[in-house]
Amino acid sequence: MEKKYIIIGGGAAGIGAAYKILESSKTAKVHLFEAQSILGGRARTDVNAIKGLAFDKGCVYIQDPKNPKNPWPGIAKELGFDTVVDNTGAELRIKENGIYRNDSIHGIPEINEFVQSIEDQFESHKDFPNLTVCCQPRVSDEHVQLALGLSPYGPFTESTEPWNYIASDRFREATGNWGNNLFVRKGLGTLVRQYGENLSNKYGKRFQITYKSIKTIKYGHFDDSQKNDDQSRVVTVVDSSGQEYQADACIVTIPVSLLKKRTVQFIPPLPLPYQLALKSLMLGSYKKIAVQLNKMPIDIKDDINYYLYNEDPHGVWQYYRLSYFPKNVLIVHTAGNFAEQLDFFDERATFDLFADSFKKAYNDQKLTFNRKFGTTNWDNNQYSLGAYSYTQPFGHSSTSTLALDARKQMAKPIGRLIYFAGEAYNLEAYGTLHGAYIDGQEAAENMLRDTD
Ligand SMILES: Cc1cc2nc3c(=O)[nH]c(=O)nc-3n(C[C@H](O)[C@H](O)[C@H](O)COP(=O)(O)OP(=O)(O)OC[C@H]3O[C@@H](n4cnc5c(N)ncnc54)[C@H](O)[C@@H]3O)c2cc1C
Repeated sequence: MEKKYIIIGGGAAGIGAAYKILESSKTAKVHLFEAQSILGGRARTDVNAIKGLAFDKGCVYIQDPKNPKNPWPGIAKELGFDTVVDNTGAELRIKENGIYRNDSIHGIPEINEFVQSIEDQFESHKDFPNLTVCCQPRVSDEHVQLALGLSPYGPFTESTEPWNYIASDRFREATGNWGNNLFVRKGLGTLVRQYGENLSNKYGKRFQITYKSIKTIKYGHFDDSQKNDDQSRVVTVVDSSGQEYQADACIVTIPVSLLKKRTVQFIPPLPLPYQLALKSLMLGSYKKIAVQLNKMPIDIKDDINYYLYNEDPHGVWQYYRLSYFPKNVLIVHTAGNFAEQLDFFDERATFDLFADSFKKAYNDQKLTFNRKFGTTNWDNNQYSLGAYSYTQPFGHSSTSTLALDARKQMAKPIGRLIYFAGEAYNLEAYGTLHGAYIDGQEAAENMLRDTD
């Protein structure tokens, strides 16, 4: 019999799920609902902020490109999107005796030692299910802040954890080294959106998309006593204008922060184990700014990440320009508590704070910035309420599986009707674009198997 499936959310997970269903079955129909007016979710390229710049406000790197499970390098190739291998180096912009200069990331023994200790802790714990490699107090010390920013397991490169600890539930780093990240010249968000939009051309009437927000999901209780009762196997979703749609099953890909806030009402309410799991899954903060200057200081070279301490609020700016960017453009990243605080500022205040620190660090008050800039505020974005997932550092021992169990719990279907999918539930690569895609595909596979 012809099956009908609903997917809620048109980010990487929703798109991955749609492809899997439509590829695997010749008759199944998919109806995808997306609350925003474009596909991609946390993969979003802004081409209007600065002329000629594809500003990736969400994901920018195709991570682990050589992992055979990662579809994005192949999708980029198939759709003719140019990729560039990320060979960016790293340097500190550091103040000594009142004067700023560049230094190598290994140049300051105190920072080096700190980074090394984090890495040693990580190495010695990496095969354990839970990992808290460093419990760091929130000290406003330049060296400590820079070391946290520089650590490959710290907030700047891998995660969005608040800085009272660095890494908990860091399961995925243990999975291996799959090559340098890739940039996508036209923007990773553009690629994801394009790939999603191709679904309509490829699958015609079997694929339908509605750009509306889902407010309610009604699903029947399903237990073994109802096994042979097909009537109990329906799910009904209600959109923002009150219209109802029915399907055999539904994949829900909206971010965990929205599920926690109950922006979608489940009838009946989500079973307790899901509610408890959601309590421990968080989305961290990550903020970016795209700026253009009248000239580039000579101390800034292409393809280097610079790390600069900001005293108040304390944190680290990481900025770089790539050789293919428009003239004098820099992209600035911040993460963790610093990003969280900046998300309370208005856009202009964040920009001014960076511009001020930067002018001081390059000792040039004549540096001017274009008034037009791009910035992000994922914490306040109503469609995500945060950047990407981490788990609360509970369990407090490296053998505790509590944190991972929360991710696993959400991956369990409810009564063969509701399947959760998204970056937060992929154990190998949570917090990534490919993790989200793979998770969407796995949920679709499970759903097809269960509802066949
Ligand atoms: C700043 C930032 C930097 C990142 N950097 C990288 C990186 O460099 N490399 C990498 O691999 N990953 C990175 N990530 C992570 C990556 O972007 C995400 O893991 C991935 O895009 C998540 O996909 P998803 O489908 O799980 O969720 P989402 O992309 O959030 O998709 C969920 C969709 O659901 C929609 N939605 C929400 N509520 C409703 C509703 N009620 N009804 C209908 N639709 C709804 C949303 O609009 C959204 O489109 C980054 C993320 C951020 C925010």
